[in-house]
Amino acid sequence: MPHPLSQLPPSRTHAGAFLPSPRADVSSLYIHVPFCFHKCHYCDFYSLVDTRDRQPAFVARLIDELRALRPWAAPLRTIFVGGGTPSLLAVPLWEELLACLSSTFDLSQLSEFTVECNPETVTPGLAAALASGGVTRLSMGAQSFDRAHLKTLERWHDPDKVPEALETARVAGIARASIDLIFGIPGQSVADWERDLRTALSLELSHLSCYNLTYEPGTAMTARLSRGQVTQAPEDDEVEMFRLTPALLAASGLRRYEVSNFAAPGDECRHNLVYWRQGQWLAAGPSASGHVAGTRWKNAPRLDDYLSRNESGFAPAVDVEPPDPVRALAEVLMTGLRLSEGLGTEPILTRAEQLAPGAADRLQHTADAARRAGLLEPETDVWRLSEPGLLVSQSVIVDFMTALDPA
Ligand code: SF4
Repeated sequence: MPHPLSQLPPSRTHAGAFLPSPRADVSSLYIHVPFCFHKCHYCDFYSLVDTRDRQPAFVARLIDELRALRPWAAPLRTIFVGGGTPSLLAVPLWEELLACLSSTFDLSQLSEFTVECNPETVTPGLAAALASGGVTRLSMGAQSFDRAHLKTLERWHDPDKVPEALETARVAGIARASIDLIFGIPGQSVADWERDLRTALSLELSHLSCYNLTYEPGTAMTARLSRGQVTQAPEDDEVEMFRLTPALLAASGLRRYEVSNFAAPGDECRHNLVYWRQGQWLAAGPSASGHVAGTRWKNAPRLDDYLSRNESGFAPAVDVEPPDPVRALAEVLMTGLRLSEGLGTEPILTRAEQLAPGAADRLQHTADAARRAGLLEPETDVWRLSEPGLLVSQSVIVDFMTALDPA
C-alpha cells in the first residue's frame, strides 16, 4: 500500500524551496525509539528489550525515513522523541540522528525539542550531545520515588537517580524538564502519593504529568491482577489522590492544563498541545502515529517490519484513516475536552450542523445536561470540564461523542 503522505501534496520541493500549500505544512515531528532495558509491567507502548546490536540498523533506517518525510515539513517548531527509552540509544548514534535532523529539516524556528529518558541513562556525555543537538527539554519517567511501588510496577531504576539526572541535564544546558508520576499503584496510600508529589515539587520542576494507573489489555500488570497477585487501589483512594494533586501543585505554581498534566504558565508541553488541539505532525519510527491534512496513519510496529520493508524511505503504514469529518470532530471533542482551556462552543456547533442534521442540537443538549450536573463550568461560550467533570472526564467525553454520532 502506498504511504498516505505520498497521496498528499508536499509543502516544499525536494530541493528544499518552500511552496505554499493549503494541505500539508507540518511543523511538528514525533520520533519513536523502541528500545527499553526491560518491559515494565503496566506498559502497553511498543517497546522491546534493548539489544544494542540492533541500534545502528534502527538509526540508519530512521534517517532514511526522516529524509523521506522532509518534503511535508515546514520549519519545525516542535520535536518529541519518545519510546521506548530514547536515552538508551548510544551517544554516537544520537549524534548521527541529531546531525540528520539539523541537515534534513529547517530548525530555525524550533521552540521545543523533547527527549524522553530513563533516569539511569542520563550521563554527562549524553546530556551534552543532546544539548548541542538542540534538545531543550527532558521528559523523565520517574513514576514513584518509593522503591516498593517501583517494584510493584516492575520499573527498574533507582529513584535517587532522578534528581541526579535532572541536575546533569541542567548542567549540560537543557533548561526544561518534566517527570511522569503514577498514582493508584496497588498498595500505595494517599499519604504515599502525597509524599511522591512533594518529592517531585522539591525538584523545582516546571512540568509534571500525573497518570492514574490503568490496566491495559495484554500487559503483565493486568495478568497479575486477573491472577489475584495484585489488588487494584480502592476507588475512594484514587479519587482522593486525583483531588489532592491539583491542590498541592497549585501551591507551587503548577496549574492543570490537561487532565493529567500540570505546568507553570508558559511551560506546557507545546508538542503535546499540537496533538490535543488536533494539529498536524509527522511521525517516524516503529509504531509512531502521524496526522497530516486529516489523514491519520501508524507505522508498522514491529522492528523487523520497520527495518525490512521499505517504500522510498517511508515506513510501512498500517491503520491508515483517510480524512473523515465526523471522526475529525469526534477527535476534537475527545482531546479538547481534556484541556483546561476547553472548547469554543460556536465553531463546534457550526461544524456539527454542517455534518449531520440534528448533531448540533444533540451536542448542545449534552452540554446543557452536563452543566446542570455540575460536570461543565457554567460559561456557555466554552465547554470546559469542572473539577467534578475532570474526575469522570472519560464518560463525559463518551456522552459528547455519542451525541455527535449516535450510530
Ligand atoms: S520504560 Fe516506558 S516504554 Fe519502556 S517498558 Fe517501561 S513504561 Fe514502557
